[in-house]
Amino acid sequence: MSNAIFRIPTAVNEPIREYAPGSTERASLKKELERQSNQIVRIPAIINGQEYTKGHKVQIVMPHDHQHVLAEATLVDEAGINLAIESALAAKKTWDQMSWKHRVSIFMKVYHLVRGDWRDRLNASTMLGQSKTCHQAEIDAACEVCDFLSYNLAAMAEIYASQTAETPGSWNRMEYRGLDGFVLAISPFNFLALASNLVCAPAMMGNTVLWKPSRAALLSNWYFYQLLMEAGLPPGVINFVPATGEDISRVALLHPDMGGLNFTGSTNTFTSLWKNIGANLENYRQYPRIVGETGGKGYIFVHNTADVPKVVSAMIRGAFEYQGQKCSAASRAYVPASLWPELKEMLLAKTAEIKTGDIRDFTNFMGAVIHQRAFDTIKSYIDYARESEDAEILTGHCDDSEGYFIYPTIIVTKNPQFKTMLEEIFAPVLTIYVYEDEDIDTAVRYCNEDAPYALTGAIFAKPRTVIQDLEEKLSYSAGNFYINDKPTGSTVGQQPFGGSRQSGTNDKTGSVANLYRFTSARAIKENFVPQDDVNYISMKEQ
Ligand code: NAD
Repeated sequence: MSNAIFRIPTAVNEPIREYAPGSTERASLKKELERQSNQIVRIPAIINGQEYTKGHKVQIVMPHDHQHVLAEATLVDEAGINLAIESALAAKKTWDQMSWKHRVSIFMKVYHLVRGDWRDRLNASTMLGQSKTCHQAEIDAACEVCDFLSYNLAAMAEIYASQTAETPGSWNRMEYRGLDGFVLAISPFNFLALASNLVCAPAMMGNTVLWKPSRAALLSNWYFYQLLMEAGLPPGVINFVPATGEDISRVALLHPDMGGLNFTGSTNTFTSLWKNIGANLENYRQYPRIVGETGGKGYIFVHNTADVPKVVSAMIRGAFEYQGQKCSAASRAYVPASLWPELKEMLLAKTAEIKTGDIRDFTNFMGAVIHQRAFDTIKSYIDYARESEDAEILTGHCDDSEGYFIYPTIIVTKNPQFKTMLEEIFAPVLTIYVYEDEDIDTAVRYCNEDAPYALTGAIFAKPRTVIQDLEEKLSYSAGNFYINDKPTGSTVGQQPFGGSRQSGTNDKTGSVANLYRFTSARAIKENFVPQDDVNYISMKEQ
């Protein structure tokens, strides 16, 4: 009987494994990498718990060794997407009305499988399919997936406990239903954790979901989906629907029962989805909730009191880890002229030490970028900089003969509005603008106003007055703001993530703010002393 107020375990962050040489965890991960490298996985859609294989077949390859096929997947046809919508709608009532204790239990099971038996499978598939190094996979596919689950379950309990003021003679209650209809979750390639959260957060709150994974992350996403099934997620609650963006937009996004869009990806994609929703408003049964976390142009703003080695470390980790394919990546920097000679020398020396290559070699710091399209786009930016009189490439080159390798690239520009200072490239490309120390106010204005994004930013300075001044002047430039730290590496529960302007709706993943977006609250008043008089006392003459 569900007749008690249950306590959710305290939310905690998952400890990061180090995979030190000679450790059993390293040996075990290497074995799993070997296993997954030597097979070709078949990835179907799963609709209402059943495989669905009608559609277009595609191959999934290793980005760092693009002739090596890892999987063959189906991008489902229109009939499959419609079936998934029916399945989500059919599962909705039972799921939403299931005692929340059981929903919690299912996601706790997911959490324990991720941190336990499935850890190697998730890490290895993320490494091979998305070209993450062992450390980058661990902080994403193991730790952040766990953190989202752990913090969201606590946030869910907090929301359910949130009740209203009392009225004499009645009982006021707040009930937190899932949204009307189904939730469409569209995930990006770069983080398994984000994909897991895009589907699990709405599901936890009683929604049923259509998950359209990114084709470029299908391998790890498929392993995670199998884990969900092993955890006992009922059929139809989350439907795994690899499909083309165009088909999903045409069929699921515009469906009358689309109750919420949970999106993470590029600004252009999100803008087009929102426009399509807007144009379709009269056909929906409800106004769809729209949550979207999108692009970024993370910055590092350096004051002349900054500690140069610490700035260099932040630039290298912030700009080049996971090949700069983090929405939070440092991709532009503002450096005072007085520090530039020392900073440049140290930055180039450290960058020269970076090893790039196949992520199965654990000594590499960087792998390849995600696919040929990304490689070609990034290369075109680098070529543009090479040909421009406004910029100089200090280091960096590209090679796609075996894998899609873009080596760490540093551009210095005289133009604060240079293309690579403004546009998201999503690559290991850092552009630096050197400002005269006395022109700091103008440089701060460039930093705040020029790029259309507002996701992450970092300042490096020592005096409190300077820190206070920059913190205020750059207030709206970033949803995640760092003082004397790199702009990447936000941790669930510690620095809830999200930005505004062209970076999204800033709904702060892994927090109550995000979960509220997937509830449709019902306020219930039960009156124990109903009135039998129609008139009010004020209506009496005497
Ligand atoms: P993307 O926009 O190319 O794709 C994201 C998802 O949208 C994919 O599943 C893709 O297939 C799908 N899609 C593309 N076109 C579509 C359409 N017309 N209709 C429906 N779905 C469509 O982004 P990506 O390359 O996968 O990811 C990188 C981008 O994501 C970067 O811009 C990055 O900054 C952003 N990102 C943001 C955050 C954040 O929290 N703000 C986190 C991660 C990534």
